Amino acid sequence: MTDLTSLTLAEARDGLANKSFTSLELTEVHLSAIEAARALNAFVLETPDQARAMAREADAKIGKGQGGPLAGIPLGIKDLFATKDVRTTACSRILGNFVPTYESTVTSQLWRDGAVMLGKLNNDEFAMGSSNETSCFGPVVNPWRRDGANTTLVPGGSSGGSASAVAALLCMGATATDTGGSIRQPAAFTATVGMKPTYGRCSRWGIVAFASSLDQAGPIGRTVRDTSILMRSMAGHDPKDTTSVDRAVPDYEAAVGKSVKGMKIGIPKEYRLDGMPAEIEKLWSEGAAWLKAAGAEPVEVSLPHTKYALPAYYIVAPAEASSNLARYDGVRYGLRVPGRSIGELYENTRAEGFGAEVRRRVMIGTYVLSAGYYDAYYLRAQKVRTLIKKDFEDCFAKGVNAILTPATPSAAFGIGEKGADPVEMYLNDIFTVTVNMAGLPGIAVPAGKDSQGLPLGLQLIGRPFDEETLFSLGEVIEQAAGRFTPARWW
Ligand code: GLN
Repeated sequence: MTDLTSLTLAEARDGLANKSFTSLELTEVHLSAIEAARALNAFVLETPDQARAMAREADAKIGKGQGGPLAGIPLGIKDLFATKDVRTTACSRILGNFVPTYESTVTSQLWRDGAVMLGKLNNDEFAMGSSNETSCFGPVVNPWRRDGANTTLVPGGSSGGSASAVAALLCMGATATDTGGSIRQPAAFTATVGMKPTYGRCSRWGIVAFASSLDQAGPIGRTVRDTSILMRSMAGHDPKDTTSVDRAVPDYEAAVGKSVKGMKIGIPKEYRLDGMPAEIEKLWSEGAAWLKAAGAEPVEVSLPHTKYALPAYYIVAPAEASSNLARYDGVRYGLRVPGRSIGELYENTRAEGFGAEVRRRVMIGTYVLSAGYYDAYYLRAQKVRTLIKKDFEDCFAKGVNAILTPATPSAAFGIGEKGADPVEMYLNDIFTVTVNMAGLPGIAVPAGKDSQGLPLGLQLIGRPFDEETLFSLGEVIEQAAGRFTPARWW
């Protein structure tokens, strides 16, 4: 029965619909797979009872011909999404055993469509990180290893648990969030597909806030098609999020396999970094050649303000984070460390509850927002953000349909390898942050392996609300590159 875990979500959906197996059977094999993979530390909470109850309900609905688009499909949920009556911590000690009394809009849409929740997935604390090493539950292990080596590698972050679980066949798909690359970078490190939708496409309501003007939820799946199926359920207008856009949700799956003939694909020259590994260069050219063979036309484009994106992001994101995280004061949520005065209670709680990276961001954020520095840092970064957005607009105005770039500057690295210098860690997001700064959609698709046998991904960046084009182009890359699955060692 274990081979049910290796089905794609699309195959499982069809198998459930034609009664080849039940959702309860499908759920059981995933629960066993999760149990056998605890060494990966992908799940921070397993919810087997709830999963079985949801699976039975899905089976009953499928039996009556009333199953929704995700009826009976077992999923993992990033611990940043509030789940009613199920512990939600953002993988921070400060939230302790916080149990929400409400469900995030995105997850409630997944349950509306019949999906089954297997549990909550590990992530970097408050989604701050690129390696899943800042989680209070400890690091997630990437199911991929270098050829002939047993060094444990990071799965990327912050959605490391989501990527690792999907790659290791522990769930058929997962929710994730992306503020500067947290869907796309872990997808690239694990040979999964990650879609960061246009800002406003998915509701942020009920998702623990990091940097509200950049945060966006999206799916991680095993294939482009699977990701497109999840995307349809996750997207949609929500009056509870004022930044959510009231626009019809297209049938994203219909875009998978659609012709890309005549599409103009921008290749930004500023993404050709000094010292970039030759393998990444090669993968990038290969990607362009595959799209060309499918009838698209690669054209060189310029995004001149790219080099300012990372520094500007590391002003805007911490600024918003310092303000969002002010609510964790030891009074309203989770952890409380007493003190002799209310001030001391705040200080003690925040000093003990937040990890080192989160404290660093709160301090940077408070600094750049403080009187006297606001104009020099925060306001300036906002102006840079406008220029970055304009670079993309100029490019799309010239008829470019999508932009092709590498997803990350390297393959997955070892746990503990990049801890010492925060800037070295921040450089992971060099190709992804621009997309959040401009509010655009971006997809990461597995495209090849490096010389050590580790997966590498390509990124496609689209026009606002044109996720469909990204699914069409992503499918071309997936078809050309093939699919990659890690050898099981855990
Ligand atoms: N790695 C980036 C950061 O640490 C992005 C994280 C994210 O997208 N949530 O801020």
